[in-house]
Amino acid sequence: MRYTRAQLRAEARRRAGCKALRVCRSTGTLVGLYEAGPANLDTDDGAWATVCETHGGIVMHQTRAIAESHLSHPEEWCPVCQGDSEEEKNYENVRAL
Ligand SMILES: [Zn+2]
Repeated sequence: MRYTRAQLRAEARRRAGCKALRVCRSTGTLVGLYEAGPANLDTDDGAWATVCETHGGIVMHQTRAIAESHLSHPEEWCPVCQGDSEEEKNYENVRAL
């Protein structure tokens, strides 16, 4: 499924704390940039989060700039994008569009 930029922007606005949604070119998965507090995520490990929406993988980051630098590369931080099929069976809270 493909989304237009306008669709992704509109969907990002509907999600609490979501600053950007993108379809990752390398993995084809939907990825999101979130501000942890407004998104009701645990802020202990950082105020920003990147989320592989397709698989539910979440990684926290200290700054928005760091989070943005990871957004386009979920294969570096999402266990399922990294090819862990066990993780794939266990994932929960999939928030794909
Ligand atoms: Zn993933």
